[in-house]
Amino acid sequence: MEKKVRVRFAPSPTGPLHIGGVRTALYNYLFAKKYKGDFILRIEDTDQSRLVVGAEEYIIESLEWCGIKFDEGVHIGGQYAPYRQSERKDIYKQYADYLIEKGNAYYAFDTSEDLGIKKKEYESRKQTFQYSSANRMTMNNSLAINDTEVKQKINNGEPYVIRIKIPEKETVEVNDLIRGKVIVNSSQLDDKVLFKSDGFPTYHLANVVDDYLMKISHVIRGEEWLPSAPLHVLLYRYLDWENEMPLFAHLPLLLKPEGNGKLSKRDGDKLGFPVFPLKWTDPKTNEISSGYRESGYFSEAVINILALLGWNPGTEQEIFSMEELINAFSLERVGKSGSKFDPEKAKWFNHQYLLKKSDDEIVNIFAKTLEEKDIKAEYKYILNVCRLVKERVNFVSEIWAQSYFFFEAPKIFNEKALKDKWKENSSQLVAEVKEIICNTENFTAAHLKETVSNYILEKKYGMGQVMNALRICIIGTSIGPDLFEIISMLGKEEIERRINFALQTVNAKFIK
Ligand code: GLU
Repeated sequence: MEKKVRVRFAPSPTGPLHIGGVRTALYNYLFAKKYKGDFILRIEDTDQSRLVVGAEEYIIESLEWCGIKFDEGVHIGGQYAPYRQSERKDIYKQYADYLIEKGNAYYAFDTSEDLGIKKKEYESRKQTFQYSSANRMTMNNSLAINDTEVKQKINNGEPYVIRIKIPEKETVEVNDLIRGKVIVNSSQLDDKVLFKSDGFPTYHLANVVDDYLMKISHVIRGEEWLPSAPLHVLLYRYLDWENEMPLFAHLPLLLKPEGNGKLSKRDGDKLGFPVFPLKWTDPKTNEISSGYRESGYFSEAVINILALLGWNPGTEQEIFSMEELINAFSLERVGKSGSKFDPEKAKWFNHQYLLKKSDDEIVNIFAKTLEEKDIKAEYKYILNVCRLVKERVNFVSEIWAQSYFFFEAPKIFNEKALKDKWKENSSQLVAEVKEIICNTENFTAAHLKETVSNYILEKKYGMGQVMNALRICIIGTSIGPDLFEIISMLGKEEIERRINFALQTVNAKFIK
């Protein structure tokens, strides 16, 4: 029987979740759902010195906002609970002990001062110090000193760590579903710490133990973990779990929009786009990083963007719902090379989703802006405004800038527009057209258009000239949605009032 698909997202709560992390969670989710498997949220908080207050809650809220759902996890429980490694602390030691017993691990008593001295010594020779088979016998550990001494040290309560004993000159193979076979010579690996003096396992041990105990079938994670994979393979081997070892898939990096390099936490606000799903306030420095949610992105758009940064469907299709992604996703179509984040394309995606949203949804968001400005308008009116301008915006937050004139009459008139479009006879033309408009009974945009156009044609006036001047009078500037729609929506009285005010103001200005 094929192993049930069980995948996990295993973040460390050391800060806000980067969108690269969201993408890792997303690919895991898509993979799990495609194969009717389980998706698990495990919190890897074994490095207690790096914990950040609020990070775990942030991770959970971000994924919820994105619509990435879990079957088991720290926030919902499940058959393999607990899912927070600090609550599983007692589980790990026995495995470290077992490795010592088998001769695959050893106690190391070197203090951080000792290690610091070694580091310096190597540096002075222009070498990098790695605790490994090359030098372990010169260090303070249970391989280099005799058993009695080791026992004594432990009984005396001397702090120690447990390190893996990496074999010499062995080939370690990692079969990666994205990169294929990756072969490493074990002599390149160092004797990583598996268990720390504070009683916590390190990431490597806890990660392997939990993946095994939680019956994880596939480990899908960022490429930055590829160098650790050979060590993990050795751990599975030494713990006698090689037959149940999950399959590995290391995802390519998300790159900066320009140049090379990983998209970092610092890039976002520097380059003018968020790199975090939600706004984050650093609890220590109070530094604020912007988030996609607060910047007005729809979560569906963010998901769509991330899905295509690393995976391609093999077709021209660009817009995918979560359901469609689940159906189309496969690890075979995840590329090997990094994908550049394109902030303009991200806006384009949001625009597409804005157009797909129901009018009600958009009105409900936009109504909050009006409320803040203490503007009252009928629902139907706001709805028509939104319909009219949504083509022109990427975000609901941009609707106001495109539509304020539906709610407030212009008090000032754009200088540049006047300079470019206002001619000597413009006042007179506008005054004439105002009469035509005010005498029109059927005030639909279509009818107004026909009536006004006929008049202008009849009089052999320049269509552009009249319309530009009329637009300036009604909305204060020379750009915006269809003018007849605007006239129809504002109504006869308001149009008359606006034109009168505009002509007075503009004439006064020109006479001066
Ligand atoms: N805790 C690791 C991280 O923060 C998880 C890596 C993995 O998925 O194995 O990214």
